[in-house]
Amino acid sequence: MFKWVAQSLSKPRYSVFQPGVIILTSRGVPDVSVFLLGMGPTRILVDVGWHTGAVTLLDDLQQAMENSGAQSLSAIIITHWHCDHILALDIVRDWHRQRFGTIPPSYKFPFPYPPKCGLPDVATFLPLADEQLFPLGPCGPSWEYRARVLHTPGHSPDHAALLVETVPSREQAPAPGAACPFPPFIICGDLFVGGGTSSIVIHLASYYVSIERLKQLCLGPDAARPSTASPAQPVTVLIPSHGEPLRNPLSDIDRVRAARVDRERRLLEQLEQLEKDPSAVGGCTLRDFLGSYPPQVRKNPFLATGALLNAHAHLEKLVAEGRVVETRCDNVPQFSADELANTSRMYFPTASEADLVSLTELEPLRAVLRSHFRYRLVR
Ligand SMILES: [Zn+2]
Repeated sequence: MFKWVAQSLSKPRYSVFQPGVIILTSRGVPDVSVFLLGMGPTRILVDVGWHTGAVTLLDDLQQAMENSGAQSLSAIIITHWHCDHILALDIVRDWHRQRFGTIPPSYKFPFPYPPKCGLPDVATFLPLADEQLFPLGPCGPSWEYRARVLHTPGHSPDHAALLVETVPSREQAPAPGAACPFPPFIICGDLFVGGGTSSIVIHLASYYVSIERLKQLCLGPDAARPSTASPAQPVTVLIPSHGEPLRNPLSDIDRVRAARVDRERRLLEQLEQLEKDPSAVGGCTLRDFLGSYPPQVRKNPFLATGALLNAHAHLEKLVAEGRVVETRCDNVPQFSADELANTSRMYFPTASEADLVSLTELEPLRAVLRSHFRYRLVR
């Protein structure tokens, strides 16, 4: 079912997950998946990838569209604002305008990143709504595909997952008892990465709500929470933006949750340990937490930023639960201009050097990098 289509045997360019669901790759660090959905003359593109990967992606997209009979894109849905998902948007829009004469509308949950950050202008998006439906056309004589938008914050405030489901055709209903040709699956963006781990989490409480929502959809219609329209069958596959599909989603979701709980336990232990350090007067700082990571994390600006953001998300939750207290202090060593620039470079790789430091004012970076807080266990 998950068949690579190869222009050459050594270099697979896109894969057909199932009819009407093509997965392309935007090359970069990391590679990111881009999805072409639908079987009719117009298709929907989900994410567009890196600006540096755009030329290859557009070659592959053109090939995939020609090979599958697609004539144009009717919409582009962006799962969230991160650069690896969004940076090629203006290039893809321009390509579509030149090739097909139109610019397809782009959809995204709102998130007000600033104008000088190098990302596509926020004003050029139409806002997504939770549970919004995107028809994807027929996928058999009596069936239709559609994508249902799920607002799933936690990795980012504007994160969307897409439930792709097969429903009876409005024009020609299937025979009674006819089996649905394709089970539902979820394009889960960066809520999970291939291999079943979570990526950076900015807000832990909403992350847990989001993965629980996906879990309910994997348990099936009876278990789905009443407010969520659920597919007729359980979801059996989650397809992340990075890495291979998760084919045992229930155990993957449980494992990711357990890993988070374990991370919290280790963070509390670390807090206890760091408090014994006489230099940690008044409590630990975020920089102290970074100090306990191995050098390959500390010395890599991207990994270090991820570690800080995750630690901050855990601390924020522990403070909200009353298990850790945070105190604003003026004597917390602040991050240097270089560290600030390195951090925002991860999010804004095309921004000018002059703008990089000011971009750390954007949530969620501000919470971490401008932090004047010390953290102590509540005894
Ligand atoms: Zn992301």
